[in-house]
Amino acid sequence: MREPTIYEMSSPGRQGVRYPDPDVPTTPLPEGLVRETLPLPELSELDVVRHYTNISKKNYSIDSGFYPLGSCTMKYNPKVNEEAARLPGFAFTHPLQPTETIQGNLALMFELQQWLAEISGFDAISLQPAAGAQGEFSGVMTIRAYHLHRGDSQRKKMLIPDSAHGTNPATASMCGFETVAIPTDEKGNVDLAALKAACDDTLAGIMLTNPNTLGLFEQGIIEAIEIVHQAGGLVYGDGANLNALLGIARPGDLGIDVMHFNLHKTFSTPHGGGGPGSGPIGVKQHLAPFIPGPVVTVVEEGSQDVPPLFGFTMPEHSIGRVKSFFGNFAMMVRAYVYISMHGPDGLRTISENAVLNANYVRALVNGVYHVPYDRICMHEFVAEGHWNEAPEVSALDIAKRLIDYNFHPPTNYFPLIVHEALMIEPTETESKQTLDRFADALLKIAEEAKNEPALLKDAPHNTPVGRLNEVKAAKDLILCSCDLPYG
Ligand SMILES: *Cc1c(COP(=O)(O)O)cnc(C)c1O
Repeated sequence: MREPTIYEMSSPGRQGVRYPDPDVPTTPLPEGLVRETLPLPELSELDVVRHYTNISKKNYSIDSGFYPLGSCTMKYNPKVNEEAARLPGFAFTHPLQPTETIQGNLALMFELQQWLAEISGFDAISLQPAAGAQGEFSGVMTIRAYHLHRGDSQRKKMLIPDSAHGTNPATASMCGFETVAIPTDEKGNVDLAALKAACDDTLAGIMLTNPNTLGLFEQGIIEAIEIVHQAGGLVYGDGANLNALLGIARPGDLGIDVMHFNLHKTFSTPHGGGGPGSGPIGVKQHLAPFIPGPVVTVVEEGSQDVPPLFGFTMPEHSIGRVKSFFGNFAMMVRAYVYISMHGPDGLRTISENAVLNANYVRALVNGVYHVPYDRICMHEFVAEGHWNEAPEVSALDIAKRLIDYNFHPPTNYFPLIVHEALMIEPTETESKQTLDRFADALLKIAEEAKNEPALLKDAPHNTPVGRLNEVKAAKDLILCSCDLPYG
């Protein structure tokens, strides 16, 4: 039976809250400012508590189950992060306060800049961007500013591998570049011959993701970077997959000129549903004058007894601000806590376990699911959700059926170069038992696909709603199941 909506449960006069009598004289409100009637439901406190509690239980989240969304690093977010971000000294500061009164916040940002630089092998960091995509925008604008500063205005071409995340070509176009797709070779690497052929004196750079979105380490990355540098281009690194490299390889050491971090992926913060995020960029010295600002610097050296005085500085040829004030500060607090909690060795262990877990699941399902570009993967792998024996079953059906087994589906239909792609990133925070249960579910679903495909086609079976038109749901958002009595 369908649960009644809060509008159906409404009963005239029922009330969940009682307001105290005013202790100041009442004043009539200006005419026309207030609606005559506002047909909100009338409910008791208990009705309201149950309504919201039940809605919250319908959400699937990393706190309620396994969430192997590839390319997004949906790892567990330690609750201590939340406690730190809510400390009054952080939470109640105002961005317009004089900097002398927020030295603790600035010290945290300064140290985070230094840690990110050390982890990634870059020389300067801007904490401004509020998402990976905005980090890309900032980084590619930085590349553009560098070329223009040198009078290289003919450099209009940005190379993008065909496995790249959609934000890469979107970013390059937004920054005024013309994009050229570079194919992937049979091993899952950027095709170096095609890359070489695309390089000339109009080259602005390349946007490389390493490990790439197939979950594979770019085996020719050093050579690819050399080819681009020799043609006078710069290398943008999409750092969304940094969860595979912490303490093992530094993108700056590989020769990358500028990269974004997704603090909300690699360094844990609840994300999804549109934010909030944080996408700082790291750059080599030659790009440091161009990065978004302000950045945090030491404006007065300290001594043994006096701490240094921190302040905000605009880099000399900065592309400007990309975010109001100083970026998403609370995300910086969470990343700071996460990094300090793990320390250098702990960070390396994160990546080792992320890679181990992905390879474990890959080994359990490989063969039953076709894994193209079949080699040791990094923190994620991409399988095909398709069998010739079950021609009507698609990756989407497998994803929907996984919901019946109480797992969040992996990313599907990305990367575009894999047919019916299922992109699985278990992350380091999951136990062997969870990974075994997940692989079991995938193997059972493969059996069902061949013997009882209707089970997949009609899935999910035990959610409040079945298959939604996801595009319409996003573009034409209606947040209430009932007809509201007003527009
Ligand atoms: C997530 C992701 C992005 C974009 O990052 P957001 O923080 O979601 O804007 C870019 N590239 C890759 C490979 C990603 O996985």
